[in-house]
Amino acid sequence: RTVYVNGEYLPEHQATVSVFDRGFLFADGVYEVTSVLGGKLIDFAGHAKRLERSLTELGMDMPMTEEDLLAIHRRLVDDNGIEDGLVYLQITRGAADRDFAYPAPDTPLTVVLFTQTKPGLADSPVAKKGIKVISIPDERWGRRDIKTVQLLYPSMGKMQAKAEGADDAWMIEDGHVTEGTSNNAYIVKDGTLITRHLGTEILHGITRAAVLRFAREAQMKVEERSFTLDEALAADEAFITSASTFVMPVVSIDGTDIGDGTPGPVAKRLREIYLDESRKAAV
Ligand code: PLP
Repeated sequence: RTVYVNGEYLPEHQATVSVFDRGFLFADGVYEVTSVLGGKLIDFAGHAKRLERSLTELGMDMPMTEEDLLAIHRRLVDDNGIEDGLVYLQITRGAADRDFAYPAPDTPLTVVLFTQTKPGLADSPVAKKGIKVISIPDERWGRRDIKTVQLLYPSMGKMQAKAEGADDAWMIEDGHVTEGTSNNAYIVKDGTLITRHLGTEILHGITRAAVLRFAREAQMKVEERSFTLDEALAADEAFITSASTFVMPVVSIDGTDIGDGTPGPVAKRLREIYLDESRKAAV
């Protein structure tokens, strides 16, 4: 597999990063995951835009133009023969003597991209069955709108879910659902689609933006507001969205069936629309 590191395309065993990298020492970095369907990138422009925002919020500059970034993505997809899968991108504040204060502004950022192949990503059997989630307290830091590589808490949440026979965890703050460990959370009640409003409490999902646009275009009623765990338990449907799961039905929360405990019609329809439309617009 070919990997991109700081301007070079290398076989993965030759691709290395310094032990002094601030991503390694301080989780001082940001990332993006863009899915690939039929050899094409889904919503690349959205991911590039959010990357720039994450960098800016942390006082880093985009190290290259969006066009150059796209060229790297395309080359890795082609060289690695990715039909269905994803491209992972990470940018950190670079390598410097360990110090809480940032290094000199001319320290080069570390830029790494690699691919993962996921055959049949869009017709995963899991989507037909739906997933089970548990609820856990949201104990992450307060700037969840920045897509940083500090992912230990979500990782712990995922492990807890698995230990309890579930697939993922929804995080709760002040009685309200923020989001899933690596996805945005939605419920459907009496035909209305409800998902948390944007703010610093959640990541501004690229898939979320697209799905809400498609839902409104399909004349669905959409409310962007926080909802409680109790509301979710009493909802007709629940689902999540992310670049790698698209739209994924949630069929139980904390062991309670949502609706009749099978994927709901709104989630199924939005998944279909999302996959159709984003395939058409893929680059
Ligand atoms: N929320 C969190 C915490 C995430 O980590 C992710 C994706 O990794 C998402 C939401 C979904 O964002 P996107 O649709 O851009 O993949």
